[in-house]
Amino acid sequence: MEVIKTAQQLDTQLNALRNKGKRIGFVPTMGALHQGHASLVERSVQENDITVVSVFVNPTQFNDPKDLENYPRTLEADCALLENMKVDFVFAPTAAEMYPEPDTRTFSYPPIDSVMEGPRRPGHFNGVCQVVSKLFDMVRPHRAYFGEKDFQQIAVIRAMVDDLKCDVEICPCPIIREESGLALSSRNTLLTPEERKTAVSISQTLFSSLDFAQQYSVSETHDHVVSTLNAIPGLEVEYFEIVNGKTLQPVSGWEDTDHIVGCITVYCGHRPVRLIDNITYKRA
Ligand code: AMP
Repeated sequence: MEVIKTAQQLDTQLNALRNKGKRIGFVPTMGALHQGHASLVERSVQENDITVVSVFVNPTQFNDPKDLENYPRTLEADCALLENMKVDFVFAPTAAEMYPEPDTRTFSYPPIDSVMEGPRRPGHFNGVCQVVSKLFDMVRPHRAYFGEKDFQQIAVIRAMVDDLKCDVEICPCPIIREESGLALSSRNTLLTPEERKTAVSISQTLFSSLDFAQQYSVSETHDHVVSTLNAIPGLEVEYFEIVNGKTLQPVSGWEDTDHIVGCITVYCGHRPVRLIDNITYKRA
């Protein structure tokens, strides 16, 4: 495994392999890797000749400077994990390498990015599109792997790929959870052990809402999830939206469409840490 810092070095290495007909899989990450990331990497290693993992905490997608400052950075441990997984290249550029000049491009994909995370994290998806489009240009992968934990992000990336006509297959991967049900997240390391126990209620409530939804309406299910979680000290729901899995627009009834997902963001603990999760109610 080689750790590469510049786009030029990456280009030289990958061009040679591409010319030999090798298929390239790509996993973009912000590091502080855990088994959720590892599941994406594992799939890429299985499905492609060469796997590139990027580790870059992208400043343009953070709307809160404190969040950027607090974001965990563990490159050495990340490389050790990736080495064991038979990754070929880790691309770990500096911010100056990624943004020699400020990126003034704007990406806007309404209505997909105008709901849920969009209005609550102004500029977030724009930053995600800036960095992912640059990374796609640098890596030129055949396939790119994204986790369904960031459900809306995948929809935005798909819209961007259509818009920019990127020749890459987007491969969504299921959410990896702790045994407790808590969705793995780099941000979980910012929780105290006590807060971590509290955070388990997020996934538990989402899971139990699957049964609830059998008997109750969309709006009753919505209110049940929100009131259950808000009643737990240390948790505060920012939003819970039950949406069409393709358009991400709210649904009003379970029969509205054949793909329905509940997406939630909850503030947890003293800091507080912003945690996201989602649950599939219906999928054709
Ligand atoms: P991040 O480093 O948080 O930007 O995440 C990099 C990629 O890993 C994204 O595509 C995430 O959706 C994915 N990911 C993060 N956590 C999980 C998880 N628990 N299960 C599956 N994928 C995940």
